Amino acid sequence: MRIVLIGPRGSGKTTIGALLAEGLGYRLFDTDGMVERAEGMSIPAIFEERGEPAFRAAETAAIRALPPEGVVVATGGGAILLSDNVQALRTGSLTVFLDADDAVLAARTEGSTRPPLTGLSHAEEVAAVRKARLPLYRGAADFCIDTGGLSHADTVTRIQACIDERRSVAGCREFVTFLQQTRMERDEWQVTIERLCGAEGMPLHGIFAVIGNPCLHSRSPELFTALFAACGVDGIYTRIEWPDLGAIMAAARAAGVKGLSVTIPFKSDVMQYCDEITADAHAIGAVNTVVRCGDWCVGANTDWTGIRQPLAGTPPGRAVVFGAGGAARAAVYALQDLGMEVTVLNRTVERAHIIARHFGCEYGTPDTYDPEKTDVIVNATPVGMEGAGGSVLAAGDLRAHQTVFDLVYTPPETKLLRQARATGCRCIRGTELFVYQAQEQMRLFTGITVDAALIREILG
Ligand code: NAP
Repeated sequence: MRIVLIGPRGSGKTTIGALLAEGLGYRLFDTDGMVERAEGMSIPAIFEERGEPAFRAAETAAIRALPPEGVVVATGGGAILLSDNVQALRTGSLTVFLDADDAVLAARTEGSTRPPLTGLSHAEEVAAVRKARLPLYRGAADFCIDTGGLSHADTVTRIQACIDERRSVAGCREFVTFLQQTRMERDEWQVTIERLCGAEGMPLHGIFAVIGNPCLHSRSPELFTALFAACGVDGIYTRIEWPDLGAIMAAARAAGVKGLSVTIPFKSDVMQYCDEITADAHAIGAVNTVVRCGDWCVGANTDWTGIRQPLAGTPPGRAVVFGAGGAARAAVYALQDLGMEVTVLNRTVERAHIIARHFGCEYGTPDTYDPEKTDVIVNATPVGMEGAGGSVLAAGDLRAHQTVFDLVYTPPETKLLRQARATGCRCIRGTELFVYQAQEQMRLFTGITVDAALIREILG
């Protein structure tokens, strides 16, 4: 096994890495030191003379040259910024995120000769850089340790406990007992239990699951299992269909489950089990992703990213969202983020009013739709789903300059999209929401960004 230490400057990676390597009888590799030796100059000099991209390229080369086993690796604070680095570092490794709060990090790095990355004061820069990188550190890590208040020796003891925990099959017993009572296809259940209770102990990179009621139909296990295999992530992704969210979260916490995809009906209730809610999830009022880092559970929302990404690059204009449920909230948030003026149209106008008040946008009933004043249309109602058929708009209500995003994904080509295509509109299928929300979820779960094309290929 290889132990990789990640975290911001001042978290003690090199000193702790040296102590840990000594205790384990491993060799220590410090990627900053490797870069300095390879380039024949100090890191401040590389930044000054060649710029950050040259430093990052040298850092990537150093990471690729790391031995696969029997080493402790102390990385530079920004090593996780490149997805390829994260993937290379994680393969065959147990990754530990060493953290500390902003004040502790600022005090530890005061007077450092390292080049500043921003024009901010030292303390502000430490806080800003840590904040921007936190989701990547948390995703890339199998364990997270707050080193503030701990001696280096104490931190080493904690890391050794993490290694032991990962090797222990006892840690997953409670989770297995819980899984046995949930609804799961028998074949999948057997594979899950066998992997969890195998002689090797828990998977190196932990357990992940989709939780919901129902969620047996979810394609997330198939997708993430394939993505993990493609990216060298030794994780298990299963499903938990069960009505009692409290019981699910207790079992997941006890087993140290690393990541959860959250679906109906838990997207709002799951927030009470999180220690932190991201600003996006808070604004939308829903969490569809939970990432655990140490004892800290972060609730995030990737549904809005799944709506924003396919629309990125669309010139800001006037957008109409049909529907006023959870998907509509994510759509309004995404459209406003793209600089659109949004109007929510819903058959129950009171619900549209609630969203409009929350997000500060316009609202009305569907009969107030005006094609001449609409550039982007998002259907966030179930109208058009298989069986139900139908369309929120008649063909004559569409215009060639419009972009139409139908969030309905069964069938992939809805009646609304067929009408829009015939009119000459730009069309986006509901399946794209799933693709891009999963891409962001993978990044939050593992720190690795995969191509949307790979996700589409796996989903077929
Ligand atoms: P939701 O909370 O139940 O809200 C559904 C909204 O649609 C409500 O505003 C409802 O109006 C309206 N509606 C329902 N039936 C209608 C009808 N026959 N005519 C007009 N309006 C109708 O559901 P949601 O979670 O927001 O999801 C909405 C849809 O988005 C889903 O059905 C699904 O197709 C799609 N979705 C897709 C993805 C994806 O990955 N592509 C993900 C999530 C959702 P009232 O307020 O008047 O009841």
